[in-house]
Amino acid sequence: MSEFGVGPLVVGSYSFPVTQPALTSLTDDEVLFRSSVYEFADRDIRPLVRTMDDEAKIPRDLIDRLFDLGVMGVEIPDEFSGSGATFFHSVLAVEALSRVDPSVGVLVDVHNTLVINALLRWGSEQQKRTILPRLAEKTVGAYALSEAGSGSDAFALTTRATTRGSDFVLNGRKLWITNGNEADLFIVFANVNPDAGYRGITAFLIERGTTGFTIGKKEDKLGIRASSTCELIFEDCAVAADRVLGEVGKGYKVAIETLNEGRIGIGAQMLGLAHGALDHAVSYTKERKQFGHAIASFQGVQFQLARAAMEIEAARLLVYNAARLRDAGRPFLQEAAMCKLFASEVAERVTSLAVNLFGGNGFVKDYPVEKLFRDAKIGQIYEGTSNLQLQTIAKQLLS
Ligand SMILES: Cc1cc2nc3c(=O)[nH]c(=O)nc-3n(C[C@H](O)[C@H](O)[C@H](O)COP(=O)(O)OP(=O)(O)OC[C@H]3O[C@@H](n4cnc5c(N)ncnc54)[C@H](O)[C@@H]3O)c2cc1C
Repeated sequence: MSEFGVGPLVVGSYSFPVTQPALTSLTDDEVLFRSSVYEFADRDIRPLVRTMDDEAKIPRDLIDRLFDLGVMGVEIPDEFSGSGATFFHSVLAVEALSRVDPSVGVLVDVHNTLVINALLRWGSEQQKRTILPRLAEKTVGAYALSEAGSGSDAFALTTRATTRGSDFVLNGRKLWITNGNEADLFIVFANVNPDAGYRGITAFLIERGTTGFTIGKKEDKLGIRASSTCELIFEDCAVAADRVLGEVGKGYKVAIETLNEGRIGIGAQMLGLAHGALDHAVSYTKERKQFGHAIASFQGVQFQLARAAMEIEAARLLVYNAARLRDAGRPFLQEAAMCKLFASEVAERVTSLAVNLFGGNGFVKDYPVEKLFRDAKIGQIYEGTSNLQLQTIAKQLLS
């Protein structure tokens, strides 16, 4: 028998050992990691969820505790003070946090799967040595690609970087930037040569407080309200040449490659969110009585819960598969698009069901599911809308 309890596969006179684990079987280390993050979320985040949503703010003290927990530098190697773990661990962390609060989930997600990921792949040795320890210990990161006129068509961005000697001067505005309020380090995409189109796009590492860089309006949002979403303004902002991330004119590659991976994290956020909504629906329906019985005893309710559990499991398989493919260095573009698209649809359906099953209580803020219903919507918008995910899948299918 294999360690997964599966005997060898026998075909004719050949006996093949079955060594592939189920996608959802976790190593002891992964089980421990996920449960410690979930225990933290349940104990330290859950009591704050309502206030954070009302006040549209994640307290700095909670962010410091996320650093202490080790979820803010998951893939950063030990030598740079990180946890030295895998992308899959980041996905487990985002899932576990989002089961309690998807706003905290996305703060951790952007920091790990976009910002740290981009630095690990594209950073110079000097950038890694000086910046990664800060990102593992105290500095929150943000990733600024979108602008008012360029969302899905991200490479139509108009933020301009002109050269001044060997340095650059940025002018322009970024919109919708997650962690804008909390971050001290921003990866900012600007075009150094608009005549070259997307081949002029360059990624810069910019610190909060740099002269000519200000944080603009903070958005007042439908969901994930505690996660800050801000405008960034660059007015003659001088940036030294050693703050270019990757090569000049290769920012489009930095953006494409990090976003391909980042959307697996959004799949994990939506997966955790859906799981959290189902947790609430199961507890509530076992408690709430109508017609003299718990509403969970009605077959009509049971079937709805069963369908939600099945959809969540399917989303989990897609998310874990995409993350494991990425860690294995295998192609994952289509799988990442599918996992984000599907998990965000499941999150919308399951949170909607949870609101229905809470009845009138589902519609008011005293109960947790109306918030999760609002939070779910963003999964179909950021890091590529659902139409853009469909476009990616269709391109692969038809190529
Ligand atoms: C809360 C929040 C947080 C965000 N965080 C960040 C961040 O941290 N960093 C960052 O850079 N950006 C961030 N974004 C921006 C986000 O990625 C964009 O909003 C998203 O890519 C969509 O762009 P858009 O809003 O301009 O919509 P548009 O691109 O204008 O799309 C509008 C509609 O048109 C559809 N559409 C567009 N083009 C096509 C097409 N070719 N075929 C079919 N349909 C199409 C879209 O699917 C969508 O339904 C965030 C946004 C929000 C709301």
